Amino acid sequence: MQDEESAPPHRAAELTRRRLLEKSTGLATAAGGSAISADDDAIQEDLFIPEEAWRDRMTAPEDGKKYGWIVDTRRCFGCHGCEVACKAENDVPLGNYIRQTIYHDHTRKSGSVARIMAPMACQHCEDAPCIKACPCGAMHKGQGGTVVVDYNACSGHAACKEACPYGAIYIDPVANQAVKCHNCTHRVNEDMEPACVETCPSGALYFGDLNDPESAISKMTEVLESEGELETLRPEKETLPRMKFAVDAEHPLMSWEPKIPREGQSYNKEAYSVYSWGESGFNGEGDSKE
Ligand code: SF4
Repeated sequence: MQDEESAPPHRAAELTRRRLLEKSTGLATAAGGSAISADDDAIQEDLFIPEEAWRDRMTAPEDGKKYGWIVDTRRCFGCHGCEVACKAENDVPLGNYIRQTIYHDHTRKSGSVARIMAPMACQHCEDAPCIKACPCGAMHKGQGGTVVVDYNACSGHAACKEACPYGAIYIDPVANQAVKCHNCTHRVNEDMEPACVETCPSGALYFGDLNDPESAISKMTEVLESEGELETLRPEKETLPRMKFAVDAEHPLMSWEPKIPREGQSYNKEAYSVYSWGESGFNGEGDSKE
């Protein structure tokens, strides 16, 4: 039987789509949208199409830029301004999210409770699984290495969503096309910051050109790296994310791990869990203890 490795790209796309449908039966997920169960550590390589079909799309244009992010979880206080700005800027429909602030509630030794927040979105991976999985040739690297969707090519296979280890893609319910963070390319082209960065009142979000030593993100990266305070999300996936997180030493990114969506999932309203304290109990399962 022919498989994706031996099939021409158009046939590989058809096989990938069929396999996704077959896999989607009977496996419920917590974060909504899809049903493929993912191995916790491994990347979903079986979703990838042949390399010759994605190699060019994984290469960013030679514009001398390298866009990246820093998310300072120590400064975020959960106002959701970034999410609202993103939704307004990009016409994100109700129930869908390009970015979302993930809460983590935990109990201190003293018995008091605390809530910490981590704003999440596409990690703009250097080695992006979504690009490797996209059978229609839509997912590709744009300026500065931004991972973007070509809407003249996307036909809503959702293979990208199944492959993304961070649940950063949703399928638009009307257009049936993949939607994700695109670094507000239309704003950046006009020398503006992404809408979320400009809106964040606590200065928790940094975006910019890592190739420019004078950019705020380069300077902040240097400081935080020297202090050993930067982490990437799920490094075991080996996707080389362009988004780094500044974390409190007592609250590494692992603190949020159970709530961050995985392959086949998307951000959804449950990420806030604003009513979960009463359900799980302050010392209940899933809460961390200091
Ligand atoms: Fe693609 Fe997901 Fe990586 Fe973003 S985080 S580049 S959507 S695999």
